[in-house]
Amino acid sequence: MEGDSAPAAGLEDRPYRRIATEEAWAPPELFAEYRRILDSGEADVGFASLMGYFLTSSHPQPRTVVERLTSLGPDRLAAMDATGIARQVIAMTAPGTQVLDPDTATAMARLANDRLAEAVRDHPDRYTGLASVGLEDAGTAVEELDRAVNQLGLRGLMVNSHVKGQYLDHPRFRPILEKVADLGVPLYLHPQTLPGPVVGPWQEAGLDGAIWGFAAETGLHLLRIITSGTLDRVPGLRVVVGHLGEGLPYFAHRIDHMHAKQVASGRYEAIRPLEQRPSEYLRTHVWLTTSGMPATLPILFAREVVGRDRVMYAMDYPYQYEAAEVAEQDALPIPDEEKAAFFQGIAEEVFGIG
Ligand code: CA
Repeated sequence: MEGDSAPAAGLEDRPYRRIATEEAWAPPELFAEYRRILDSGEADVGFASLMGYFLTSSHPQPRTVVERLTSLGPDRLAAMDATGIARQVIAMTAPGTQVLDPDTATAMARLANDRLAEAVRDHPDRYTGLASVGLEDAGTAVEELDRAVNQLGLRGLMVNSHVKGQYLDHPRFRPILEKVADLGVPLYLHPQTLPGPVVGPWQEAGLDGAIWGFAAETGLHLLRIITSGTLDRVPGLRVVVGHLGEGLPYFAHRIDHMHAKQVASGRYEAIRPLEQRPSEYLRTHVWLTTSGMPATLPILFAREVVGRDRVMYAMDYPYQYEAAEVAEQDALPIPDEEKAAFFQGIAEEVFGIG
């Protein structure tokens, strides 16, 4: 095994390889673009709050995160070794290309895909990569996704929630979703800050970030994909979502109940009959990861709602780099074969590893 850091106490080898499935990186060129946007004074208010913090704060926590994000080399491998992580599934950090102008987004995605693929080639036993694209230009995005998967060997598409206030149920994104399905790779739907027009009340309370705002934004996004009928129109689309489903499993009954009432009443143009109840799509098209959500009871609950074969481990490196959280999930009170699937087997299947 590469790297020479011993794992922390309690994280010795297990009968499974731990695959962490929502792990972030960023090319330094991306942060240079973010800085340029921040300096321009024209940044979206949510972006300015999040990236202003990470890129201009003098506090050691964000500085360490930014340093770790930009490394795909020995630092990252040592951090994995120290927490017993055999493999990371790596994607460009939020908001990725989604705040850039369309041409810059396309160029940044190509650069990032090339560089991530190179790191995967250097460390094929340790890294799996997900592609980025410039989502606003669907034609170019489809070409780049094809290149990233078929030529570079990346194993899915990362989308960091809304695209300048638009969501993936919008018809403009349909060719991209169809391409993801055709390629047989998953779409990873990851948070970013709420769009500028709605972030105000969240930000004034300090609740716009990972503490709650991200989940509200990304849960909305996944629910829109479901209730819009997008998964009926692109039935081969497989969606991976972090943070144990961004709250949706807990709301499954209420979502189904209210959706049926709204269909019956015809109250909303956007709410139409679906082929399944909304929560059933969580059992047919969606996989969850435990990024940032290591607590035992919510994991056990989510597994019962979406299926024991649909919940897999993630750390959320480098944002939530906590050895104790790995140990907590090693101790999940589930059968050995289910734990091996949770840490390894499900990720291998969903991301086509090995
Ligand atoms: Ca994350």
